[in-house]
Amino acid sequence: MNARFTIRPKPIYGESLSSYLIRIGQLNQLTYIDISHLIKSDHRQRVHQRSSFKIDLFAQKFISSKKIDEVLNLDMSTWKSMTFSYLYEKFYDQAELEVSHELFFSGNMINTSTRSFCPKCLKEEKGVYKLLWQVKELNVCQKHSVPLRDTCPTCGKRQPYVFDSMANAECSYCRNKLYEKKDEHAQVSIEKQPTIYSDWEYLIDPNKKGVTVWYKDKRRSALISLFFLAQGEKFPFAREEIEALSADYKHSSLKYLKEKRDVKKSYRVTLPVILKVLRKKEKNVDYFFSLQVPIDYIQSVISEESRYEIGTCKAPWCISYESKRSMKRISKLFLKNDNKIFGAPYICIDCNVIYGRDRRSGLWGECGDIIELAWKKVRPMVNANFSGKSVCETLGISVFILTKCLGYLARHKLLLDDKKAKYTPSVIIQNPEDNFRRLMDLKGTAIYNASEFYGWNHKEYWYYYYDHNVQQLLHLNKENDSTDIASISESKETTPSTLKCNAEEREYLLALTNKYVQQQIENREVITNAEYSRHVGKGYKSMENRYPEIIKWLELKKQLVKELILKDELEKRQEKVIMVVKMLYFREMNMSLTNVAKYSGITRKYIRTHKILTEAIIKTRESLTVQ
Ligand SMILES: [Zn+2]
Ligand SMILES: [Zn+2]
Ligand SMILES: [Zn+2]
Repeated sequence: MNARFTIRPKPIYGESLSSYLIRIGQLNQLTYIDISHLIKSDHRQRVHQRSSFKIDLFAQKFISSKKIDEVLNLDMSTWKSMTFSYLYEKFYDQAELEVSHELFFSGNMINTSTRSFCPKCLKEEKGVYKLLWQVKELNVCQKHSVPLRDTCPTCGKRQPYVFDSMANAECSYCRNKLYEKKDEHAQVSIEKQPTIYSDWEYLIDPNKKGVTVWYKDKRRSALISLFFLAQGEKFPFAREEIEALSADYKHSSLKYLKEKRDVKKSYRVTLPVILKVLRKKEKNVDYFFSLQVPIDYIQSVISEESRYEIGTCKAPWCISYESKRSMKRISKLFLKNDNKIFGAPYICIDCNVIYGRDRRSGLWGECGDIIELAWKKVRPMVNANFSGKSVCETLGISVFILTKCLGYLARHKLLLDDKKAKYTPSVIIQNPEDNFRRLMDLKGTAIYNASEFYGWNHKEYWYYYYDHNVQQLLHLNKENDSTDIASISESKETTPSTLKCNAEEREYLLALTNKYVQQQIENREVITNAEYSRHVGKGYKSMENRYPEIIKWLELKKQLVKELILKDELEKRQEKVIMVVKMLYFREMNMSLTNVAKYSGITRKYIRTHKILTEAIIKTRESLTVQ
């Protein structure tokens, strides 16, 4: 076998592996396929002429390093650097490389269907084809500054990726020299070419560093670097500040990052996206790899919660601590506390702490004094025997607030035994929610009335106030909440028209509606009345009565989301159809409609009635059969 390779020229700098194999073959009277078989890895069945480009992409998958060393005397780093292997290694972990789809990552950036060349180079070094000529955004020869081309100057036909007469620099069809004619002066912009060349030289260079792993693996870390770069290297992470990427891309790639659920593959970070952002920021590829992403930024990406999301319970003593399973939307649209407005508040029904998202910062947190004040400050002091007076003085709070805190702490058994006894009523009444139901019907403040009618002091009032059933009654029971505008408009006594529409409320509801709609559009999930009601904290019917224009708008968006979902579905099917046509082609099967339908699982009728699919089939067929 080795005897055949008595003539063994050295590879030329920048030459692609496929070009080199063709040259060796030609000198030793072997075809490209023959040579491929001599060096292919054992688990590869056959080497097809038409998938010959794969050897230049990620060669390890196709080549046995032992065989190529024996047959061609090439060591691994030499043949790998004649391919795009080092590019992929910069972005993929070793394990992922084995199962990865190289073409997906590099997108449409590498020409794998035809052979590009510089006519002048071909004349000087006959039959040597450079790897980077296949990069689509490189359209000029670095040495001669003439346009690269893939068509024969004589017959004008596009040259296949691999063909027998390549090594002689002869057209695959008419056998005339590919450098024969004088160059026509084609217009090409060469201004940016040197930068693009240096980017690609970096990418395929074995000695240049790849992605630094900040989080889990290279792919996810690359995404974090991309966000950081796109956000102008500012932290913490804020998706609104990233303008170079679409809202959809940000949303889905974050899901991928956090492995929330199966995300469409197309949202994983790809080379075209990285290069797009780099060019927008006027940075080179090496800048991307040397970027130092601060730990704080990485943390803020990983822990970022969507503004629409319900947060978790932050009360360490609660059985639902750090979980959202017990969160219930309370009947108020928003709550004010400490000069902050919390939109769409929730109550954790296990600990009765109320939460919401600060409208300004978007952060999820407690709306009240339980965690920060009662739990963190009052409780340790009271347990350490500080007097009520000194607690108030030290913390700068009123006796009223202190009593409220103690009511909570006593009711939830968060004090040491002797203190607990001190702040618990000596005789405990059953079903305090009945008392509160009556209190709610009375005019005046509940705490005053409780003292008038039941003789409760403040200590007792707050103790009962934090009873589970009372909290449910106060926050979750709509019909009894006299402060809820929705309940007024729905009651029989008043008709909607007698109510004055509150402009501020309208604006707020509109904002909530908009948020919900945007979220559904991004997630491609249908808008339902029930879910909508939960988001705005109002019934659909009541909204329709009071704000018909908001509902009219919502209905339009409902339709839009449905259409988007259908469109996505069609796009998915289009991708599938293209994939199936390619698969049929590579397996040398008939690319008929029947076969496409059979292997894609999409019915013939559906394909025939959707122009986008029939066109995809025709176009893919055409692109595969190079003229
Ligand atoms: Zn050239
Ligand atoms: Zn020709
Ligand atoms: Zn809780």
